Amino acid sequence: MDQARSVTTDERRCALEQVAAEVAVCTLCPLHETRTMAVPGEGHPDTEVVFVGEGPGYNEDQQGRPFVGAAGTLLNDLLRQVGWKRQDVYITNVVKCRPPANRDPEPHEIAACAPFLSRQLEILDPAVVVTLGRHSLQTFNPGARISGAHGTLRPVDPETGAPKALTYAMYHPAAALRQGSLKQTMLEDMCGLPDALLESRKQRGSAAEIAPAVESVPLDEPEPIAVDVDPELVAIAVMEDSLPIDENQMSFFG
Ligand code: URA
Repeated sequence: MDQARSVTTDERRCALEQVAAEVAVCTLCPLHETRTMAVPGEGHPDTEVVFVGEGPGYNEDQQGRPFVGAAGTLLNDLLRQVGWKRQDVYITNVVKCRPPANRDPEPHEIAACAPFLSRQLEILDPAVVVTLGRHSLQTFNPGARISGAHGTLRPVDPETGAPKALTYAMYHPAAALRQGSLKQTMLEDMCGLPDALLESRKQRGSAAEIAPAVESVPLDEPEPIAVDVDPELVAIAVMEDSLPIDENQMSFFG
């Protein structure tokens, strides 16, 4: 556990459950009229890595859980490639209710749901927010384009609730299901994520001692942050990656 984190796991879990309870009965935008179930998000309350997709699809709407359809299966597979499991990260969406016929979420729907996402991020205080797809990317890095941003770390718009996190952009798994060539790109980007986490940890550590450098970068034209990982930390990550998967052996928890 990150020493700087003073909130207990139970407090964090409780706070996340409170947000989920409010999401379940939310009527702030028209998406509540057509939903079967709201999909608040799920995952480990102590994680340092939060994945944010766009909005629930058919399967998610039926089950009330994020990324449980084909896109979710691909996401799980990609996580496995770096030795991580979905229950050890947190997975949520920009909008918590399914847009009818899987259309893109409207700006007013994203705006209505933003306080829930922001509270989730404040509770989790992640080191890395992985944006899945362009709506998620635009939420955290307005003006960024997925084709240039994927696989790179960027400062987060502090308004989103995670001012100490960096974003790591990825294509949406559904895009890779439609366009097979993106699967390899997604795999390469996922393989860059453990190093991105180490880099973000390093910046968070130094941010406590020095002025927060990440916040000084203009957000309308976000610059990618070069990933310059301490070889010793990479060695630790590689070593831990090679361990058998076990609930208690996550290399990316604080
Ligand atoms: N696509 C998303 O963006 N989110 C989900 O939860 C499922 C599919």
